[in-house]
Amino acid sequence: MSDSGTEPKSRPRFVAGAVCPSCGAVDRMVIDANADHRRCVACEFVEARPNAPAEQPVTRVTRASARRVETPAEAVKLLDS
Ligand SMILES: [Zn+2]
Repeated sequence: MSDSGTEPKSRPRFVAGAVCPSCGAVDRMVIDANADHRRCVACEFVEARPNAPAEQPVTRVTRASARRVETPAEAVKLLDS
């Protein structure tokens, strides 16, 4: 038997390359799907998700700014190996 299609939604997802605005820790930000916010596991910083559903009117201006945030111009960092 396979367990496909039964992913636990309560499991927080780490945001790759995300930097905590509070303590500056990298790869410590997780998305909490249940509470619809993101938080830092290093310092317990909590912030509402930037792309909140339906609350913000979709305009070209907000879209453009949102795009900037979601597309970090940073290359993938490889760990020393
Ligand atoms: Zn933090």
